[in-house]
Amino acid sequence: MELSRRDFLKATGVGVGGIFILGALSPNVTLARPSKVLPLKKRIGEKTTICPYCGVGCSAIMAVEDGKLVNLEGDPDSPINEGSLCPKGSSLYQVANNEYRLTTVKHRAPGAAYWMDMSWDNSIASIAARIKGTRDANWIETDGDGSTVNRTEAIASVGSAFPNSEEAYLMSKMLRALGLVYIENEARICVSSAVAADEETVGRGPMSSHWIDLGNSDCIMVIGGNMAESFPIAFKWATRAKDKGARLIHVDPRFTRTSAKADLYARVRPGTDIAFVGGIIRYVIDDMGVNPGNYNMTYVKEYTNASYLVLPAFTGPADTLDGLFSGWDGSKYDKSTWEWQSDATQPDNIKKDTTLTDPNCVFQLLKKHFARYTDDKVVEITGTDKTTFQQICQTYAATGQTGKAGAIVFSSNACQRSTGTQTVRAFGILQLLLGNMGVAGGGLDGITGAANGLGCTLQGLVNHWGPGGGSVRPASSSEHTLSAYGKDKTRFASILKAWYGDTDHNTSFNYLPKRGGDYSWQSLFKAIDDGTIKGLICWGINPAVSGPNSTAARQALRKLDWMVVIDLWETETAAVWQLADCDTEVFLLPAAHSLEKEGSVNNTCRWNQWRYKGADPPGKAESDLWIISKLMLKLKELYAGQTEKNAEAITNLTWDYGNPPDVHTVAKEMNGYDLSTGKLLSSPGSLKSDGTTSCGNWLWCGMYTEEGNMAARRGTTDPSGIGLFPNWGWAWPLNRRIMYNRASVDLDGKPWNSDHPVISWDGASWVGDVADGGWAPVDTSGKYPFIMKPEGRGYLFGPGRPDGPFPEHYEPWESPVANPMSPQQNNPAIVVWETVDKGTATDYPIVVTTHRLVEHLHSGAITRRLPWLVELMPEMFVEMSQELAAEKGIASGDTTIVESARGSITGKAVVTARLKPYQVNGTTVHYISLPWNWGYMGLSTGDSANLLSPRIGDPNTGIPEFRAFLCDVHRA
Ligand code: SF4
Repeated sequence: MELSRRDFLKATGVGVGGIFILGALSPNVTLARPSKVLPLKKRIGEKTTICPYCGVGCSAIMAVEDGKLVNLEGDPDSPINEGSLCPKGSSLYQVANNEYRLTTVKHRAPGAAYWMDMSWDNSIASIAARIKGTRDANWIETDGDGSTVNRTEAIASVGSAFPNSEEAYLMSKMLRALGLVYIENEARICVSSAVAADEETVGRGPMSSHWIDLGNSDCIMVIGGNMAESFPIAFKWATRAKDKGARLIHVDPRFTRTSAKADLYARVRPGTDIAFVGGIIRYVIDDMGVNPGNYNMTYVKEYTNASYLVLPAFTGPADTLDGLFSGWDGSKYDKSTWEWQSDATQPDNIKKDTTLTDPNCVFQLLKKHFARYTDDKVVEITGTDKTTFQQICQTYAATGQTGKAGAIVFSSNACQRSTGTQTVRAFGILQLLLGNMGVAGGGLDGITGAANGLGCTLQGLVNHWGPGGGSVRPASSSEHTLSAYGKDKTRFASILKAWYGDTDHNTSFNYLPKRGGDYSWQSLFKAIDDGTIKGLICWGINPAVSGPNSTAARQALRKLDWMVVIDLWETETAAVWQLADCDTEVFLLPAAHSLEKEGSVNNTCRWNQWRYKGADPPGKAESDLWIISKLMLKLKELYAGQTEKNAEAITNLTWDYGNPPDVHTVAKEMNGYDLSTGKLLSSPGSLKSDGTTSCGNWLWCGMYTEEGNMAARRGTTDPSGIGLFPNWGWAWPLNRRIMYNRASVDLDGKPWNSDHPVISWDGASWVGDVADGGWAPVDTSGKYPFIMKPEGRGYLFGPGRPDGPFPEHYEPWESPVANPMSPQQNNPAIVVWETVDKGTATDYPIVVTTHRLVEHLHSGAITRRLPWLVELMPEMFVEMSQELAAEKGIASGDTTIVESARGSITGKAVVTARLKPYQVNGTTVHYISLPWNWGYMGLSTGDSANLLSPRIGDPNTGIPEFRAFLCDVHRA
């Protein structure tokens, strides 16, 4: 019998009772030398956890003695990381054993020059009083036309993407019951544009596949990111595919460790991915005309909207050459010409041409649109090497063959643009054309940078989503009854039942706030700046460093009347009052780390995994679950007996989790109950709108059933043979591992690739993964595989976006060159919050892009407190090409000043061949790259790159353009 390493440990009796090593940096050292002799009777607890940093979801084993973490190592049972951890994961030991952790509540009185310790009881009472005072004094009961809206715009909440999903759920429940509408988290400024894009293209926002499935790919294109350093353990699956013969392509402005492992590397100018991928789309469409047998044309004709006819009045940049689509009125698009031609004889009323030859069909419009992205035009815009580009076109297009699969992997680098949504749309269009969605080894794999970014956001921690995402978005001011609600009534009714028990649905529906404007991240900070928002709660988030134009963000924070920061450390945000005088009252609450509490976390592949409590939190630190519950119970006390200001929304809110709150009770509430039997539900298909079911989050329905906690499952067998591991954790929805998997089979349900079948139809039911939609094959049921799109087909032409139905290249808001594609310089629908004048190429001729580091996470608030990581990556630096350094007289190690229109920073120069200048229309374009992980607190301090970035955004989600703007550099 073959033993896994864990089996070996168990078999030899050292698994549970005998892990006795001290924390060691190496993840691969299992039984290192014992640092001391332990008595044989001594047993050390061993618990599993999930790494709290990035969205990969690596599992680790904690050894705990007397409440102290004595060792942490990679979990060899995990099918994701198979025992390995990256430097961040390996250093988790130092989070639990760290002298800089907060151990008491800190209070900064208005105007004071110091922190004072405060008791939990006093701080919770004071915060609750602040919330009540601000809420009641700024209560909006009705809007301009007299509609009940029951909201306050004077209190905001930001964060987080790191707590357990149960904590995020309670956070959302409390904040929405209080009437808050300014609710945002990191997802807005990280990858929100990918969600907008993927919803338009295939119907759902998250990554469609999972890490292990990358091993089934024939070709992986990593674009807009450095997977090897940002998501190292996930990258293992890309290299494993390569070991099996797959090709690896990397497209990025910087030559990184990802490039070093790639078969083909293309250097592209920051902000030009649409042109690069547009060129590949053009190549594929041209090649389809010559070699149709090399492509799965059934997939294109049947599973996409290629055959739909668009109104003849529709025009695009290919017709007018002005860079605009029809309907532009100078400020926004009138989309009436972007609609389908109707045909009453069709079940979906859409006229189609299945020969794909009609000039108004989507396929021909797509062909015309991208015909302008010739090899030469791509080279002119992106600055890439033409031969390499052509090789990439041929290599990636080869995944279009029936039975082949290609995956596109990307992250925030592709998303944080004024054209972020359209960039990811381009990726999706290419994947649909090549038949790469739903198949094993295919997919649109956008990676979240935060461990529970997906899980927290899907509890409703962004302003426009409720628990369960967009299908249960908060109501608008025109929706006053459940029957008038424009989204899923059954799911919303079940949330109301979970939150307000027996209260009549329409009463509880109006307890919750109605939205009346834009409450997204950059609008939120503008509202703080203009005094609308007076109180702010920051949950494990550090906006003094992480948002655009940090100088403006810090100034805004100092205008608040009060702020609550819940964190492990004194972050830059908590300490913002130390930069300049202000009267902001600040409460800094010491939080428990994920190693010190229990709950589920949802990785970027949608897998929910349960993590257990290992160490005890230091001092008086408490979990978010405890803090939220304590605060909510105090607020209920304060509002008891009050009837005005929608007080019943608070007093009637169900809150029965025990004291201290029990995370399993919360998880069960999220899963939902059949109220007629009292049994836990097993699938969202059982939800009802008649009040007989409760369910806090329909996407989580099935995670905690009568059979137990599915997220805690650790089944390591893979009956699928393609790495689905269906009994490891639980993936929403319904434990489906590859979304859109009914596109992996032909119209009769036979897999396109019999070597890697995701599902197959046995004549009566599906075999394999949980079929997406469950219906019989298309020829029998008429139900197409992209079930979240109106007709079940993927959208090559996407009429729902505010900036065009096809992606078009525009220059970043700040660019040193004129747009080589058209006279339209920027995304016409770009949203500008910035009040500082835009920088010009005359004053700021150099492009800045930003990047992640393997050693630090995001604003660095957590990793800059860990000595091991600080030693590995000690200070802020400025990466530049040898050519630019020579021009500027800068040598490696020189202190360098970088200036933009918003401010200036310093950092050590790193002169490298990893960056090379571009030629665009005869102009040499230099660029630099900055990590953005530094601030003024922690063991390693330095300037934040976000002191330079502008407050502008993509029109779909308002995601900032962190990845391409202008600066100048010189030696200090
Ligand atoms: Fe895995 Fe990401 Fe943690 Fe590294 S940071 S160990 S890749 S989850």
